[in-house]
Amino acid sequence: MTEANDIRKVVIVGGGTAGWMAAAAFSYLLDTSRTQITLIESEAIGTVGVGEATIPPILLFNQMLGIDENEFLKRTQGTIKLGIEFRNWLRQGHSYFHPFGDFGTAIETVPLHHFWHRQKQAGLPTPDLFEFSLMAQSARHGRFMRPVTDNPKSALAGIHYAYQFDASLYAAFLRQFAEERGVVRMEGKVARVHQHAETGFVESLTLDDGRELEGEFFIDCSGFRGVLIEQTLGAGYQDWSDWLPADRAVAVPCEKVSDPCPYTISTAHEAGWQWRIPLQHRTGNGHVYCSGFTDDQTALDRLMQNLDGRPLADPNPLRFVTGHRKAFWHRNVVALGLAQGFLEPLESTSIHLIQQGIARLMANFPDRSFSPAARRAYNERTLWEYERIRDFLVLHYTATERDDSAFWRHCKAIPHPEQLKEKIELYRETGRIERNDHELFTESSWLAVMHGQGIEPESWSPLIERFPVDEMQERLDRMHHVIGRAAEAMPSHSSFLAEL
Ligand SMILES: Cc1cc2nc3c(=O)[nH]c(=O)nc-3n(C[C@H](O)[C@H](O)[C@H](O)COP(=O)(O)OP(=O)(O)OC[C@H]3O[C@@H](n4cnc5c(N)ncnc54)[C@H](O)[C@@H]3O)c2cc1C
Repeated sequence: MTEANDIRKVVIVGGGTAGWMAAAAFSYLLDTSRTQITLIESEAIGTVGVGEATIPPILLFNQMLGIDENEFLKRTQGTIKLGIEFRNWLRQGHSYFHPFGDFGTAIETVPLHHFWHRQKQAGLPTPDLFEFSLMAQSARHGRFMRPVTDNPKSALAGIHYAYQFDASLYAAFLRQFAEERGVVRMEGKVARVHQHAETGFVESLTLDDGRELEGEFFIDCSGFRGVLIEQTLGAGYQDWSDWLPADRAVAVPCEKVSDPCPYTISTAHEAGWQWRIPLQHRTGNGHVYCSGFTDDQTALDRLMQNLDGRPLADPNPLRFVTGHRKAFWHRNVVALGLAQGFLEPLESTSIHLIQQGIARLMANFPDRSFSPAARRAYNERTLWEYERIRDFLVLHYTATERDDSAFWRHCKAIPHPEQLKEKIELYRETGRIERNDHELFTESSWLAVMHGQGIEPESWSPLIERFPVDEMQERLDRMHHVIGRAAEAMPSHSSFLAEL
């Protein structure tokens, strides 16, 4: 490898969340005096602009860029997210909370839920499993503080959180960050793409006003269109709607009517579900639904009936096909964001997939020889990650008691992907949750959703039999008490925001 072979011109097509996240990260991690980074975006086309809820790894992305959290929250009208409340997913009137972080602490290496299930089975008065989650308790009480760092044994050291923010403000914030570090932004629409006659590699772009732009490495962040990855290179799309049939959404922000709560709410409806994401200045809402089971007007009416406050904009209808590009990195083009694929926002994973794509790209950053092995590794790892998230989403839809609509009856009959089937069987038979090290969702996340969706283990770890049931009752009570006290000791989420 020689310096002469280094990539000197990176071109990013698209200035939504994906484009500006990529531009910000590249401007920080590459030497922009040697590698020119150009981002093209078209105000006429605009952005999707509805990604508002995130998961905890977003903290690492911002920290990597050295972004000050208070400034970020102020500039994006951000709030804290401690998890998601799922309403009506198991059955009408039922609710559970998928919190970040753990459920209590393991006892002699055995996760708490094994003990909990045994106490329950023995008929002992045991608080709800979710009461053992610090994040679920603090969310319920509307409380938040940053984790304590000077006492690792404190329950308050185990605080896990993410953000809810205005996606267009985040893109604007990152744009300033990237431009200050040398990224050049061009306003315009890519009208033509020129490829090398033999290799098919993308060589240059022509904008609609006739300007030409050459590049060596292209990042396609052009949204669902996939201007380079699909329209030019024809990477192909793997459709997963047999597993995740929702294919439309309608989004609308509304006035906030109370202090923002530190969590997202997902409410299941007859043919989909509705999100509610509280920000500092407004509440984001949207209804994700399946067009095979309802029509657009009914879906819109359902959304508008369930707003807390006055709508602040016209409803924004969106269409999508769940799935992914057959190649995420094809020739000298890597697709990120919606150009790469789409998994519905049920567990707020899209922005995370952008972040992961960027991290993986930096780890495999090519030179002009574009190693096929590196591309293959990138594609295989990305696909694996998509599949694991897909499995987690499928779990929400299929493990339900609902049969009150054709949509839910359809969902219940969806066959499980192989690895999901194995995960559920293992949990049912033994109470164990198997997780690969690279998997995004933790054992606690799987526990929360399996338990919340009514899946119960028939057994527990034999290792706990040496702990007498009544002794454990006391330990569990103590743990529950400590978690409750810790949640109550936190200041309110509103006062945290006020102090920003
Ligand atoms: C209903 C819904 C809800 C969602 N909720 C969440 C959530 O809660 N959490 C989460 O993490 N994610 C969520 N997402 C996903 C999230 O919105 C996206 O991952 C994120 O916004 C990234 O979008 P993007 O930048 O890839 O695409 P876009 O926002 O569509 O941006 C595309 C960019 O490409 C440009 N462009 C397109 N064609 C051309 C061209 N020919 N020439 C020049 N420029 C061009 C456009 O101008 C624009 O700048 C949601 C998505 C949907 C659909």
